[in-house]
Amino acid sequence: MQNLWNKILVVMLAAVLFAGIATIGVAEEPIKLGLAIPTQTTERWVRDAEFAQDYCEELGIDILVQYANDDASRQLSQCENLIAEGVDALIIGAVDSTSASSAVEMANSAGIPVVAYERIILNCEYDVLVQFDNFKVGAQQGQFVLENAPEGNYVILGGGPTDANSVVFHDGQMSAIQEAVDAGKINIVMDQYVPNWDPAEALSLMENALSVANNDIQGVIATNDGIAGACIEAMTAQGLTGVPISGQDVELAAIQRIKEGTQSMSIFKDTRQLSKAAVDLAVQLVNGEKIAYDSEIDNGSGTMIPTVSLEATVITADNLDVLIEAGYYTEEDMNF
Ligand code: BGC
Repeated sequence: MQNLWNKILVVMLAAVLFAGIATIGVAEEPIKLGLAIPTQTTERWVRDAEFAQDYCEELGIDILVQYANDDASRQLSQCENLIAEGVDALIIGAVDSTSASSAVEMANSAGIPVVAYERIILNCEYDVLVQFDNFKVGAQQGQFVLENAPEGNYVILGGGPTDANSVVFHDGQMSAIQEAVDAGKINIVMDQYVPNWDPAEALSLMENALSVANNDIQGVIATNDGIAGACIEAMTAQGLTGVPISGQDVELAAIQRIKEGTQSMSIFKDTRQLSKAAVDLAVQLVNGEKIAYDSEIDNGSGTMIPTVSLEATVITADNLDVLIEAGYYTEEDMNF
């Protein structure tokens, strides 16, 4: 009898053990996302990554982040590594909107969904693009400078030529000022893209423009804050102050210039919303859920890309508190 009970006990123990192992076997691993960030040298991108990491932590999922330092081939190998590390989806802020299609194709072959982040990736198929309405951002910049400098000589310094957004910003800027250009009110002294959005490149371009125009400049359309800072440095060196000049990204250095009165405006892109949207979309795609989007964009692949576009806000010295109210910065952050 004792023997039989022993046998029953052993069988029962084995059953419990087996059930335990089986449960461990099917226990789901947390979702793991890969995030490819184009650069660490522009403040906004560092914040994008931090926000995405914080949000993933909140959701209890993993995220691996890579920074490409504006090097497109480096970004490709980083994406390859992320795929090799078994990420379930790839979120790509492309260094180069054209060559990043190779990363998308790698992800497609690995059966991993792709979210293009802030910058469109051209000529390939992927699941979704999440961005700001960048045409509108350009129009907001152009309109602002036009309102404050309705006539005169203009310098336009655009973004990096490998970032497809740069053309979109430029189209937006021109949509605002074209009429004044055609009417002869505005004379464009220089209209150049700035390699890699690099402030050092912008500085020498602006120095050039100032010397060509004999410092006679009435308006500057600078496409982001890094470029604006360089233009302001070049103008200040020539004793030129008070020229209306745009920016973008509400970097802290730009906020300081806005407070001092050397930069006229910036554009607040709430990158917390952007990173949250990207992570949510990636998770939905991994779970095979249907995603919601507001438009479709032709990226040259023959397939329309579902697109989510967020709105940005113009920031001037008159509404800096918007940033505090939104919780984007604290009062202390902006206390220089
Ligand atoms: C983004 C801008 C940013 C720029 C440079 C663009 O793609 O839209 O917000 O300033 O890249 O990093």
